[in-house]
Amino acid sequence: MEAKIIDGNQIASKIKQDLRSEIDKIKAQGISPHLEAVMVGGNQGAKIYAGNQEKACKELGISYKLNELPESTSQKELEDFILQLNKNPKVTGIILQMPVPSHINGREVQMKICPSKDVEGIHPFNIGKLIYGENVLAPCTALAVMEILKSTKVSLKGKEVVIVGHSEIVGKPLVLLLLQSSLESPTPTVCHIATKDLAFHTKRADVLIVAVGKAGLIKGDMLKEGAIVIDVGINRVNNKIVGDVIFDEAVKKASFITPVPGGVGPVTTAMLLKNTIACLAGTAGSGKE
Ligand code: NAD
Repeated sequence: MEAKIIDGNQIASKIKQDLRSEIDKIKAQGISPHLEAVMVGGNQGAKIYAGNQEKACKELGISYKLNELPESTSQKELEDFILQLNKNPKVTGIILQMPVPSHINGREVQMKICPSKDVEGIHPFNIGKLIYGENVLAPCTALAVMEILKSTKVSLKGKEVVIVGHSEIVGKPLVLLLLQSSLESPTPTVCHIATKDLAFHTKRADVLIVAVGKAGLIKGDMLKEGAIVIDVGINRVNNKIVGDVIFDEAVKKASFITPVPGGVGPVTTAMLLKNTIACLAGTAGSGKE
């Protein structure tokens, strides 16, 4: 069996197309979406990511500004900068580019972002709402995985979904998103660094989602025949970008598979834009600054 390769760019284009008409309606009401990103120090990866965000925003007529603060910025200075953005009515969405320098506690800073401007869906207020299924703003990568699963049109009801990786932006919120329907939900299992027998779990997965950051972690013989495989991992190996799954082996066994690059990545960016518009639609969290 040769898997159907899921085209993340195509899914992302469709999401952006749908957003265009929403943005037109919002602009007709005199509201302009405006995203501000804050980057501390000159991390190369963060710069590339910010460049991609800017390009995606411009495509849809969302204005974008990258604030580059010096490496020497203190925790207090950075938090104050975020509080100013919270107060500015022209700023409708805020992103703190990660990683931040080691003297800064990034999570503490992210908590200062007003929940209704939290386009990355990582503020405790928004994460907390996920528990109740009120997930207007959720972490973009977890939302991207849900969109990709939806695109396969395969019902998840009662399926065994195994997630490898339990981070705050992928594995943990994904479990909550997967469990949102009381009658249609799959049965999620989350594996992580302390999981004793990873292959035992992956082999029984109807759907396998891998978000670790280790090239070659998932081999073909660790998959169930016909599984849906979503590879979130991004690794640079010999100047090439690869995922966590050995693609050439997995493609022979899976029913659907995401490539890296061109799978989860573009959909994640599209979900950032979707969250940006959700903030404007007034449907997002409205916790205090
Ligand atoms: P993280 O470092 O926060 O978490 C890694 C997880 O992997 C942890 O839960 C850890 O317990 C688990 N893990 C580590 N080694 C393991 C092992 N041998 N077996 C099983 N589990 C193991 O990572 P993250 O921020 O969630 O990112 C994970 C990967 O996804 C990275 O490669 C990152 O670059 C990528 N990523 C991609 C996108 C995208 O849009 N495509 C977005 C976010 C992250």
